[in-house]
Amino acid sequence: MAVFSKLAERLQETFKKLRNKGKLTEKDVEQALREVRLALLEADVNYKVVKDFIGKIKERAVGEEILKSLTPAQQVIKIVNDELTQLMGGTQSKINLVSKPPTVIMLVGLQGAGKTTTAAKLANLLRKQGRRPLMVGADVYRPAAIKQLQVLGEQTGIPVFSLGEKQNPVDISLAAVEYARQGGYDVVTIDTAGRLHINEELMNELVQIKEKVKPHEILLVVDAMTGQDAVNVAKTFHERLGLDGVILTKLDGDTRGGAALSVKAVTGCPIKFVGMGEKVDALEPFYPDRMASRILG
Ligand code: GDP
Repeated sequence: MAVFSKLAERLQETFKKLRNKGKLTEKDVEQALREVRLALLEADVNYKVVKDFIGKIKERAVGEEILKSLTPAQQVIKIVNDELTQLMGGTQSKINLVSKPPTVIMLVGLQGAGKTTTAAKLANLLRKQGRRPLMVGADVYRPAAIKQLQVLGEQTGIPVFSLGEKQNPVDISLAAVEYARQGGYDVVTIDTAGRLHINEELMNELVQIKEKVKPHEILLVVDAMTGQDAVNVAKTFHERLGLDGVILTKLDGDTRGGAALSVKAVTGCPIKFVGMGEKVDALEPFYPDRMASRILG
């Protein structure tokens, strides 16, 4: 599997050496942590995140108790596993479905990140969980984004609300929420407009939607393969909009893992879902503990 494959290979090699040693000295652990540090930097994990991460592990792993234990390598690996899990947010972070429907979820992100596809994937996942979703085409900026959402709607059998590309996104969203209320839809996913780069126009438009439509969840869709760029995008969006979470797409093609490992620590925003392919069912809830185990093998 491509996800984190390079990082996984490097870390697994380091820990294999450690296991083969039997008894460990402080030097052995330090050497292993140097290798972990390099592997994380090569995986494009944020520099400061790596520094803090290694610091925490060192503090826990070089004590007498660990080194004198019967299975020191095992214990060190367990500490790394725990800390990796914490780094990615600790526990699974769910979306907030409100008791008085419809829950309004606003999807934001740059063009090409996978926002429109993810809107359909998320609606599809929620439907599988017994919800009645309505998808809203409010990306009036990218040509054919609304058409793309309609095609996804036909594919999944999930209704799409749109008013074309001439209306403004706030009006479209408000009308959609009203339509959902009357039609008994309990989740509304709004596909907002992206841009190629972050600019004032984009941010102002999103802030307007947030203020007028008052979504319950604002989720940022970012491309995992862009590494630290994805993290910087998340930071900027969070500062302007106050995100409730991040959806990392294209994790199926991400051999490095830098974004997945840095987003939470840098922005404070949890990763809620990950995109694992182009198909409409390729969206998974994000479980930090499972991801850590996947990396450590
Ligand atoms: P938008 O401009 O952000 O709305 O992006 P789109 O939804 O049109 O997606 C851009 C491209 O990324 C499309 O070709 C999608 O099929 C692809 N894509 C989206 N999510 C994933 C994913 O999780 N994995 C892979 N491999 N491709 C994805």
